[in-house]
Amino acid sequence: MATKFVFFFGNGKAEGQGNQKELLGGKGAGLAEMTNIGLPVPAGFTVTTQACKLYYDGGRKWPAGLDKQVKEALTKLEKCCKKRLGDPRNPLLVSVRSGAAASMPGMMETVLNLGLNDQSVEGLASATGNSRFAWDSYRRFIQMFSTVVVEAPTKELNRPELVEFTKVGGISKEVFEHRLHEMKKRLGVSADTDLTPENLKDLCGQFKSMFRELTGRDFPQDPWEQLRMAINAVFNSWMADKAVKYRAVEKLHGLPGTGVSVCQMVFGNMGEDSGTGVCFTRDPSTGENVFYGDLLMNAQGEDVVAGIRTPMPLAELGQKNRGVYDQLCGVRVILETHYKEMQDLEFTVERGRLYMLQCRTGKRTPAATFKIAVDQATKPLLSKAEAARLVRQGFLPKRNAAAATKPVLTKEQAISRIKAADIERLFYPIIDPSFDSKSLSMRQLGVGINAVPGAACGQIAFTAPQAERWHEEGKRVILVRKETSPEDVGGMHAAQGILTATGGKTSHAAVVARGWGKCCIVGCADLQINEPGGTMSINGKTLRAGDYLTLDGSAGAIYEGQIDLVTPTLPAEYQTLMKWCDERRRLRVRTNADTPYDAQNAVKMGAEGIGLCRTEHMFFDTEERRLAIQEMIVAETRDERRAALDRLLPFQRQDFIGIFEAMKGRPVTIRLVDPPLHEFVPHAEDKQRELASRLHKDFEAVRRRVEQLHEANPMLGHRGCRLAITYPEILEMQVRAIVEAAVECRRRGIKVSPEIMIPLTIDAKELRLLTEQTRQVADEVLSAAGGKLGYLVGTMVETPRAALTAAKVAEAADFFSFGTNDLTQTVMALSRDDAGRFLPDYINQEKAAIFSADPFQTLDREGVGALVRHAITEGRTTKAALKIGICGEHGGDPDSVRFCHEVGMDYVSCSPYRVPIARLAAAQAAIDQPTARKPKAASGDSKR
Ligand code: ADP
Ligand code: MG
Ligand code: MG
Repeated sequence: MATKFVFFFGNGKAEGQGNQKELLGGKGAGLAEMTNIGLPVPAGFTVTTQACKLYYDGGRKWPAGLDKQVKEALTKLEKCCKKRLGDPRNPLLVSVRSGAAASMPGMMETVLNLGLNDQSVEGLASATGNSRFAWDSYRRFIQMFSTVVVEAPTKELNRPELVEFTKVGGISKEVFEHRLHEMKKRLGVSADTDLTPENLKDLCGQFKSMFRELTGRDFPQDPWEQLRMAINAVFNSWMADKAVKYRAVEKLHGLPGTGVSVCQMVFGNMGEDSGTGVCFTRDPSTGENVFYGDLLMNAQGEDVVAGIRTPMPLAELGQKNRGVYDQLCGVRVILETHYKEMQDLEFTVERGRLYMLQCRTGKRTPAATFKIAVDQATKPLLSKAEAARLVRQGFLPKRNAAAATKPVLTKEQAISRIKAADIERLFYPIIDPSFDSKSLSMRQLGVGINAVPGAACGQIAFTAPQAERWHEEGKRVILVRKETSPEDVGGMHAAQGILTATGGKTSHAAVVARGWGKCCIVGCADLQINEPGGTMSINGKTLRAGDYLTLDGSAGAIYEGQIDLVTPTLPAEYQTLMKWCDERRRLRVRTNADTPYDAQNAVKMGAEGIGLCRTEHMFFDTEERRLAIQEMIVAETRDERRAALDRLLPFQRQDFIGIFEAMKGRPVTIRLVDPPLHEFVPHAEDKQRELASRLHKDFEAVRRRVEQLHEANPMLGHRGCRLAITYPEILEMQVRAIVEAAVECRRRGIKVSPEIMIPLTIDAKELRLLTEQTRQVADEVLSAAGGKLGYLVGTMVETPRAALTAAKVAEAADFFSFGTNDLTQTVMALSRDDAGRFLPDYINQEKAAIFSADPFQTLDREGVGALVRHAITEGRTTKAALKIGICGEHGGDPDSVRFCHEVGMDYVSCSPYRVPIARLAAAQAAIDQPTARKPKAASGDSKR
């Protein structure tokens, strides 16, 4: 049987379904699903993404069978609509629309009113008795077809003066808009709705001759040819630069292509009882449970998004046209309860009748993400009374009403819905509230529409490429444009914030920025931009490219200069959701913190302990400390070294007291010194001379010592516990400092549970030597102080040999902590510091695609992961209660956290800002895999 390339929908039944996004594209799947659940959707058919893929595989040719299937579907559509494409008396018109599996807003092309030509436009006029409408549709069609479908062969025409009017893939929109503008100016009217049928007919004539001039051919009159060309144009738009770039930015890999939906036209431009609109089932900015959207009367297609005229908010529609509003309210409820997700809807009203044209999961702000998920799991969408009213009026079927009056999600579903990026985005900055409000208002240049909250500060760039360039140079940029278009996506991504002169909350700039949680202000009417001149003016002030601007996306306010930004307070729903996570996860979440400040911060983020406290960072804190450690290193005798270490001891003790205080009895894993010693000493001659004189030493002796420390491969050299083997007195000092700090805290009534960690172990005997020494020092300190103190001594597992011999290593350890940074380096034989030169090629999905992710970000399950599994099994065979965690960068990566859950670790540890992400990922893993190992009760971490 031939492959099915075309899926029909119409008359309440679709061949496809909502779960076939992959095959039909998001739009095609949505149209099929809405048709199947009984919503009013104009009939049509969807050409599959597979057909698009084969089109490219075959060198931009239709695969065998597609032609026949499209013709058959068209015939079926004509029957269903009782109209024929190109019928000179009463023509069927269609839209040809793009849609891939993943949403790529505005990236690809759509053509409306296809099927019109010089004859059928007259037919449409007489069949509808509305010639204004017919000619309005035709002029829109000629414009869209010309800008989207036709390749303007400027080169062949050899008319360089026309180049500026063409773009890759078609004639530029400005050519047509300019004509429209000129006509309105000549007639002295302001809105496009003020044009008469004659004006519009005249415009169509002008458009067609523009077309002839720029392409060297007549505007195609055969509707089948129009359709074929339009389908090809949609296929081609899949590989247009902007679409390719967008997929790269959004990391959308491995999609086959775009689907093409051909859909019977319904008309929002038939008069004041018609219109086109966009809405969200909840407020996408706040997440509030209110119906939110805009409708533009007597308009078509993208008019709302393009900001042609000022649209009417839905609330106003509720007063002006209750019938249409209530139809929409019914659809809102049906779709949100069906998809159990906030939906972004596109619709058209034709003479008071509602038609649905698109539905998809709506983009939202970070705060709204949490509000919506929590609300959906705890509250109904509608009150019983409101649901009953809609049912009574026939806008809502009974069974949907039941769903609308209870929560649509379970708490587990709400948790599973949140992504790591949603949490990251919550921490976007706002303008420092302590900034003097008077000087703030002095700096205010103007206001626009507050499209996406959060604040941003940076230097003005007027073009996307400029923004990208400056971003690469490390500058912070604010992209300022009249309006944005899909071509600008790269620059928008690079910018801290976006400001546009036109457009509303559903404009391109707003939608794209919202998806990123990026500060965005649109529709700033007072803003004039002189792009070629590199200046902008706003309320009498002129600024140039490179000047600083601060945006407050929440208020829509624009300020001159740089203003300090701070991190905002979190929405209450965030805390609620995190609590739900904590109740469900099995993994404990600790943090990597070296200072009391970081530790406190991490506790606020939900950390339950410290999984890695690096002691060496403390040595750089002050001149005095640095000198002491350097003295220790250049010491020539053990006594000299001890004397220097004695000077370091009080500093370390003080640091540990601070950290224990901050952690209030939560477990604290302290790693003994790890880096090679030569990292602590100066390498320039003048610095060495200075050191020598401060230590009253001979310069030559210092120089020689530094030279001695030089290693060919320091990563595999004299570092980690190897230092303690050579210089046991270093270990002794550090252990003494830790335990003395613990004793001191206990004396002050602060609980402590220290875990002393030996880094870079390669052998069981090596570890035994060091743990015995550690215990000896610790017990000495404790018995001198009197009383008992629970402490653990364990090791990092970060070399393949330690992992392979884990059964023996575990004999000497109370715990394992996987140091997956070094373990990844050593298992893969990849130096992280040098991998930048080639690793990107291994990960680039368009190139080699050897790895699906950077192994330094996401734990390599197959290699490193296999070794981790082995070490855990072996270690626990020796010691069932062995406590096991991870302290590499991977501890804050959601996929890696999932792995840690699967292999039965007790905890993960990550940087303070990743702690909430780890809590979320751990809960999601526990929800998906509730059977993964439960740790023994004896594992020792304090209960949450
Ligand atoms: P995009 O992917 O850019 O959203 P769409 O295919 O959704 O493009 O088309 C954009 C707009 O064109 C729709 O929101 C709708 O207003 C209008 N449109 C598309 N198809 C039809 C149709 N069959 N009838 C009326 N309007 C349509
Ligand atoms: Mg759309
Ligand atoms: Mg290490």
